[in-house]
Amino acid sequence: MNKKNTTQNEYKIALLPGDGIGPAIVNATAKIINKIATQLEFKVIFKSAPIGGAAIDSRGCPLPDETVDLCKSCDAVLMGAVGGPKWDNLTGNMRPEKGILGIRRELGLFANLRPAIVYNALKAASPLKDSILGDGIDIMVVRELTGGIYFGKRRSVYRDEECIAAYDTEEYTAYEIERIARVAFNVARKRKKMVCSVDKANVLDSSMLWRTTVQRISKEFDDVELSHMYVDNAAMQLIRNPRQFDVVLTNNMFGDILSDEASQITGSIGMLPSASIGSSSLGLYEPIHGSAPDIAHLNIANPIATILSASMMFRYSLSEIEAADRIEKAVIKFLNLGYRTKDIASGSEVALNTDEATNYILDLI
Ligand code: NAD
Repeated sequence: MNKKNTTQNEYKIALLPGDGIGPAIVNATAKIINKIATQLEFKVIFKSAPIGGAAIDSRGCPLPDETVDLCKSCDAVLMGAVGGPKWDNLTGNMRPEKGILGIRRELGLFANLRPAIVYNALKAASPLKDSILGDGIDIMVVRELTGGIYFGKRRSVYRDEECIAAYDTEEYTAYEIERIARVAFNVARKRKKMVCSVDKANVLDSSMLWRTTVQRISKEFDDVELSHMYVDNAAMQLIRNPRQFDVVLTNNMFGDILSDEASQITGSIGMLPSASIGSSSLGLYEPIHGSAPDIAHLNIANPIATILSASMMFRYSLSEIEAADRIEKAVIKFLNLGYRTKDIASGSEVALNTDEATNYILDLI
């Protein structure tokens, strides 16, 4: 993979804090990254830029050109979250979320990786029974991000200003399916070497193309086991027997729904990271949660989803596997020692604030 860093072991990371709790959790994660960099003797240069509501306020649009240019000049992008009541009345291209869709498109990020992990120490937070959770769950949903029905031809038909019909089109080319399939198989190679491809090939032509293309690409990865599942069954199996899954590969719309379902079985939104990657090593890493305006500026946000996003950044963009492993191990130790932030504390457990949690994780690295 082509790294943009000129000096070996020096990485430029774009920080896009965004809105609400975004700045606090990105700031916490930058401290973790700095500590890892010192320990493993590489250098990190952070460059910050506005996105979302913060960019609307300071630059007049949710994704200024300077933010795009900065991200393109970096090795990886770490983002907080965007949005909040202040910008809820804005419409169209002025909505804060347009910043996220725009930066993904500008960077050519066609694959979204979302792990859903139920940690042993947090099993009580999952809505699933102990007998189903076993010794924990670790699923990676690989979702196609730039094609399919969200980007296909669409139309609304109006009569007397009333919408009387509408359509959206699910459309994929073999090329789009090939490249996301390769991402999934490569991810599986670093895990349990199983890919379950989810489609609706019993009904949809686009899903038939999906299935035959994934089958063809699987021949390049004969060390990875491929299975297929219809999406309605997959939605059911995620609840009935989630431990059967390793990597779940699916299209944009099915992935949108299934990754949210998978995240809910973990029971802790403040714990879940994500990665958006493309065909170069440059990727965008962010927590799956939003800007949590209800707790902004209270110093109680859980920073772990963003810290684990940094771990994914080390693994998938910077190829610093030791750094990724150290972060994950520190988070697991933190949980096993019984440390909790407010969102994951139950019963009489004492909740740490954002700064305290970050400091404990720093100590455990
Ligand atoms: P949210 O994820 O921001 O919050 C949902 C609930 O989870 C809230 O009670 C919040 O306090 C809690 N929560 C979320 N992250 C937490 C954390 N790290 N620690 C502790 N608690 C946490 O979702 P929402 O309330 O539906 O949306 C709020 C804003 O965020 C909206 O403007 C929405 O558009 C935006 N949003 C942005 C993104 C993104 O930037 N990727 C994603 C989803 C929502």
